[in-house]
Amino acid sequence: MAVQRFDNLIGGQWAPADAYSRNINPSDVEDNIGEFASSSNTDMDAAVEAARSAFPAWANASPQLRHDVLHRVGEIIMRDKEMLGTLLSREEGKTLAEGIGETVRASQIFTFFAGEALRLGGEIGPSVRPGVDVMVERQAVGVVGLITPWNFPIAIPAWKAAPALAFGNCVVLKPAELTPACSWHLARIIKEAGCPDGVFNLVMGSGKTVGQALVENDRVDGVSFTGSAGVGRQIATNCAASGKRFQLEMGGKNPMVILDDADLELAVDVSINGAFFSTGQRCTASSRLIVCEQIHDEFLERLVSRASALRVGNALDQDTQVGPVVSEEQLNQNLGYLDIARDEGCEVIGGERLDGSGHFQRPAVLARATNDMRSSREEIFGPIASVIRVGGYDEALSVANDTDFGLSAGICTRSLAHATHFRKHARAGMVMVNLPTAGVDYHVPFGGTKASSHGPREQGTYARDFYTTIKTSYITA
Ligand code: NAP
Ligand code: MG
Repeated sequence: MAVQRFDNLIGGQWAPADAYSRNINPSDVEDNIGEFASSSNTDMDAAVEAARSAFPAWANASPQLRHDVLHRVGEIIMRDKEMLGTLLSREEGKTLAEGIGETVRASQIFTFFAGEALRLGGEIGPSVRPGVDVMVERQAVGVVGLITPWNFPIAIPAWKAAPALAFGNCVVLKPAELTPACSWHLARIIKEAGCPDGVFNLVMGSGKTVGQALVENDRVDGVSFTGSAGVGRQIATNCAASGKRFQLEMGGKNPMVILDDADLELAVDVSINGAFFSTGQRCTASSRLIVCEQIHDEFLERLVSRASALRVGNALDQDTQVGPVVSEEQLNQNLGYLDIARDEGCEVIGGERLDGSGHFQRPAVLARATNDMRSSREEIFGPIASVIRVGGYDEALSVANDTDFGLSAGICTRSLAHATHFRKHARAGMVMVNLPTAGVDYHVPFGGTKASSHGPREQGTYARDFYTTIKTSYITA
């Protein structure tokens, strides 16, 4: 069977590129999902110009139009959820249940922002000058570039594109080269939903070429990026140089604190979920399990027994609990970190490469870890969790906060006093009490502190802070 080609969406038309690249299924490297455009800077410039041309009409359109388009996008994603969820698992490697769950989430995000398009109010008040009124309103920013990672191939494009469109911006989306299929379908659905030509554009290809071309384009007003801290810093420098607004969501090294009074079963459950589900490839993954000494040995024993029993396999098999690592390169990096951890004095339990048609790796527990080890400080982004022994709550909090990152932080305890203290003092954008560090709602803000995030929060009503600019008007009759 001929492999299908997938083009860019530019100005409402499917636009071929000069080159294409394969989209490989990480569960089965013989399975080529399709040939996806590997675009050039010329393609990117054309998309930005299409977005610019569409901007005045879209920004000034009735919010009813924006509501209706977004609402239809939400409905179509829901209609196609089995196909999209299956495709997501096939191209990214999370389990089918996770793939369909993420697809449903993308639908909910569009439906939520359909409502937000209508709710964009402002303020009116008296001036300090008699006879003058002051109005404060929000307006679209303009053309926004969205650059997304591979690990949530439909939810992250959705949580950036939906608010961008709801508030009247035009979009150029550059998805991760490893997972373009979900974004291609999102573009197809946005077109099918009746979005005017040029309002939403898709340009696929590598970050170093088209990603950078998008960031450096003077006709782009803002960039919203999710990905690694290294690329984020580069984008920040480029955006600052050209005077664009930017928003960055980056990595994590998220702590899960287990106090002596924790419900042990629950603590193991949330740790298994937070560390290993979605193959540990979540920015909110619990990569540092910080465990108080009285509960430590029993916790470790149960954690290892549960982790080694997790069924690793093809993402599309119903029995699979942990899918493959996303790529050969990522798997080799994960294995490299296990060597580093061993050299640093950890006992590495599990983590070996498994035979099969894909990039399979058994979940790994790094016992006897300390917080100063490289494996405890650098984001690994795989099914690997360090277990760090501490004396008590105060030490646990200080270890939890001793990191460059600050995305999510969790605690398992039955003590309201400790839970409350942790909620107040954890230096993270999100705190979870007796819940996994990963797993968030879509109607409330998402984001972190320190090296994890920069700029306004994403998601929920707070998303408007990035995708709108404020205008203050003074009026007298
Ligand atoms: P990445 O390598 O930083 O890539 C992210 C995106 O940036 C991709 O689309 C990439 O293109 C593009 N890119 C690469 N270099 C670029 C450049 N010079 N200019 C402009 N764009 C460029 O991250 P990843 O490996 O895809 O994803 C994993 C990372 O994402 C982890 O660090 C994880 O923590 C983070 N993440 C954070 C959150 C959050 O909300 N905090 C959520 C999910 C993931 P390519 O297609 O060529 O790679
Ligand atoms: Mg990458």
